[in-house]
Amino acid sequence: RFAYVNGRYIRHADAAIHIEDRGYQFADGVYEVCEVRSGRLIDEERHMARLERSLAELRIDLPMPLSALGVVLREVVRRNMVRDGLVYLQVTRGVAPRNHLFPAPGTPSSLVVTSRSASRSASDARAEKGVAVITVPENRWDRVDIKTVGLLPNVLAKQAAKEAGAYEAWFVDADGNVTEGSSTNAWIVTKDGVIVTRPAESGILRGITRSVILDLAAADGLNVEERAFSLEEAKTAREAFITAATTLVMPVVQIDGAPVANGAPGIVATQLRQRFHDFAAQAPIW
Ligand code: PLP
Repeated sequence: RFAYVNGRYIRHADAAIHIEDRGYQFADGVYEVCEVRSGRLIDEERHMARLERSLAELRIDLPMPLSALGVVLREVVRRNMVRDGLVYLQVTRGVAPRNHLFPAPGTPSSLVVTSRSASRSASDARAEKGVAVITVPENRWDRVDIKTVGLLPNVLAKQAAKEAGAYEAWFVDADGNVTEGSSTNAWIVTKDGVIVTRPAESGILRGITRSVILDLAAADGLNVEERAFSLEEAKTAREAFITAATTLVMPVVQIDGAPVANGAPGIVATQLRQRFHDFAAQAPIW
């Protein structure tokens, strides 16, 4: 396996970053995860747009033009012979003597890219059964719209889910509303058949898969509302599901140990997952 680290392609086992990298010391960096399907990058443009936004919000410079980054991403995918899987990239504010203040102007930011295979059939098999989620109190900062590598609450939430025999943890805010999962966006389908997901203006990361699903649902003439929904509403919903580049559309069949509706994957979630597959199959070759 290979990784890209600050200008060089090196063996994954030897890939390393300096101990005074600000990503390591302060979680002072951002990342993106893009699905790879048949060797193609899915939704590259939207991922790159979100990356630019995350970087701008934190005033971190991308160490190369976006077009060059696209070449690096493809080269890492190619060198790892990834057909289906994901590509990960991380940009931090670079290496400097530890100090909360930004490093001296001109300090180059760090860029790391990795890629690995992931079986879509395993994901499809999971989707046929659906997954369980637990809920945890929202305890993150209010800039979760930035895709930073500071993910400690998300890590703890996901581990809690795993230890409870669940796949994902949903954060629930002080108003009793579900914000999102530890690494996914959260959705429900109401008893009236309305698809509901929280607006991206506050409390969540604007998921790329979320944006695509909003488009695909609209194209299918499905009724969608972007509004906050409560945990109570989710527990009595007709369906629930989660979305992310890594899980695509994944039906949720259990919330905090109680079945969602009859406890089987919902029709809408299953349809949208298929729509996403159709959409991804048409991804541009370059
Ligand atoms: N919300 C959080 C907190 C995430 O970490 C992620 C993805 O990693 C998502 C939502 C889903 O975003 P996307 O669809 O762009 O993968």
